[in-house]
Amino acid sequence: MVKRFEGKVVIVTGSSQGIGRATALLFAREGAKVTITGRDLNSLEESKKAILEVTHSEDSVNVVAADVTTSEGTDKIVNSTIEKFGKLDILVNNAGAAFNDENGKVGVEVGIGAYEKTFDINVKCVIDLIQKCRSHLIASKGEVVNVSSIAGGAHANPNFAYYCMSKSALDSMTRCFAIDLIEHGVRVNSVSPGIVATHFLNALGIPDEGVKKCYEYYKQHRDIIPSGGPGKPEEIAQVIGFLADRSMSSYIVGQSIIADGGTSLIMGMNCHDLSEVCK
Ligand code: NDP
Repeated sequence: MVKRFEGKVVIVTGSSQGIGRATALLFAREGAKVTITGRDLNSLEESKKAILEVTHSEDSVNVVAADVTTSEGTDKIVNSTIEKFGKLDILVNNAGAAFNDENGKVGVEVGIGAYEKTFDINVKCVIDLIQKCRSHLIASKGEVVNVSSIAGGAHANPNFAYYCMSKSALDSMTRCFAIDLIEHGVRVNSVSPGIVATHFLNALGIPDEGVKKCYEYYKQHRDIIPSGGPGKPEEIAQVIGFLADRSMSSYIVGQSIIADGGTSLIMGMNCHDLSEVCK
């Protein structure tokens, strides 16, 4: 039986960990050739190992250690993909992060340095990569899937304002670029995850023990995640696979699919039982 992504070439940014690794693995398992990328070579080797366990072929994977926020980094990612695989069908802009203020400030006082780092990774590098991949994607009538966040929605998280703002900007970019590129047969869509158990909190400086406690807390509070706990990276990878699979999602253009276990449906005002207060 022909696999779903047989013959396709995919770039997944941020595939040394978490959602990106699970996504690269999904594409590889379903027949695609995949460029995996991130800065940490050891983690990339772990992703590569997982891919080789399912494909048994060095030809199926291209490993690129690069900082995606630099122009040299994105050049390396795109050029090495074309050199090794000869084309590009699917670009998954997954690499992303949040940053604390260097001086421990919170809220409105979080410095411009954190703003710049956040927008570099969550917005600027996505523009850079889409521009560099544009001609290749037009040639293949390909797909772009951006990884956004429910943080970009109509809610407020004052201590991570720049992260929220960057994901709102990414959602707007998805819509605008989708309309520009659909004229050339290229679809752009995105997924907005809620809380997913990955390395994301560690990258913010929280130690393993703290992350574990945090996830336990989520499991005990269905008013935070109604489905009962953090999502798995594989659950987001499945949505990315759906959006990248034209046979499944051809008429979806410029949309973001929320995958958050119900988190974004809960409003604080509905979490309190006021029946006693109102008596
Ligand atoms: P992880 O921290 O587990 O993975 C992030 C990935 O991005 C890593 O592979 C990391 O690689 C890569 N990355 C970060 N900065 C750079 C950089 N400058 N250059 C190259 N690669 C970089 O997090 P997730 O898997 O959770 O995050 C994936 C996406 O999902 C992000 O866009 C995030 O905003 C989004 N998301 C995550 C949620 C969650 O709860 N986990 C919720 C909503 C959205 P390396 O460290 O090797 O450089």
